[in-house]
Amino acid sequence: MQDRIVNEITDMNTTKIGWIGLGKMGVPMSDNLIKAEYALTVYNRSKDKENELTIKGARTASSPASLIEQSDVVIVMVSDDRAIHDIFLGDAGLLSAETSGKIIINMSTVSSAISKEMSILCSNHDNHYLDAPVSGSVKQAETAQLVIMVGGEENVYERVKEIFEKLGKLTLLVGGVGAGNAAKLAVNSMIGFYTQGLAEAVVFAKKNNIKVEDFLTIINNGALANLYTKTKGEAILNNNFEPAFYLKHIRKDLGLALDQGLNTPLGEAAYESFRQAEKKLGDQDLIAIIKHLEQPE
Ligand code: NAP
Repeated sequence: MQDRIVNEITDMNTTKIGWIGLGKMGVPMSDNLIKAEYALTVYNRSKDKENELTIKGARTASSPASLIEQSDVVIVMVSDDRAIHDIFLGDAGLLSAETSGKIIINMSTVSSAISKEMSILCSNHDNHYLDAPVSGSVKQAETAQLVIMVGGEENVYERVKEIFEKLGKLTLLVGGVGAGNAAKLAVNSMIGFYTQGLAEAVVFAKKNNIKVEDFLTIINNGALANLYTKTKGEAILNNNFEPAFYLKHIRKDLGLALDQGLNTPLGEAAYESFRQAEKKLGDQDLIAIIKHLEQPE
């Protein structure tokens, strides 16, 4: 019986998916679900951003409550804890709908605490919650090469695993509700340290009259060569700080990690550095931290 229910909800042609949050990540991710032939309904706070998906065949909903009523599975990809609060508990929010048996997947990078809080509220109405944040940026979202770390109950995870397979190259259930968020904050702590470290090393090399291009060529051909250094190195060389991952978002993530126990020497220092840079550079890519190091004020 259980197997039959599982098969029914994972039939990709019949599962109705609702998508909330059409930002830099949400647009390409939801587009991949349309390509996979899911029936998709979208909702975004700023309605103009929905056009990009409606021309590809998505329907729209007027509110999160209306969206969940029309869907079997709802995926949320918004900025932060506050946005989650608004989407779940705001006017016509997800939890105001009289629905049960729905699966709500929160793919945003947020705290474990808000996931645990929303999961309890969902279960009060017999709905299910998974936290499933992603590693990878816009390019990986476009090419369905994200890495997805999931927290929640295994039987719920099994019911939506096929959807994750359309969004990423690897999905891992790492524990109960909130565990996906904790894993993601650990990953992003490392991104924060590494970005700060890369920027500091470039500034140091420059100070010592080493050409930035030469320094990056050395790094990119040595043991530290990786896609991230290559991409962010090119951004530094081209003075291109167009955001793939907002600097304000890494400040947010380091702040969440600090709240969850990252009281380490690098944790505190990286948070403080990005916090100071955010005022001027928050809407640029996180590698713009190099501009803050070269010109603090
Ligand atoms: P983004 O481009 O800034 O988009 C944010 C989305 O959240 C928009 O749809 C925005 O709606 C919505 N939103 C913000 N506050 C809201 C509120 N109070 N109520 C309702 N909706 C609200 O962000 P993104 O880059 O797509 O990132 C989304 C999430 O993925 C974040 O948690 C981020 O940390 C994480 N992430 C990002 C990357 C990356 O490289 N960009 C990589 C991995 C994970 P409006 O359009 O109305 O503003």
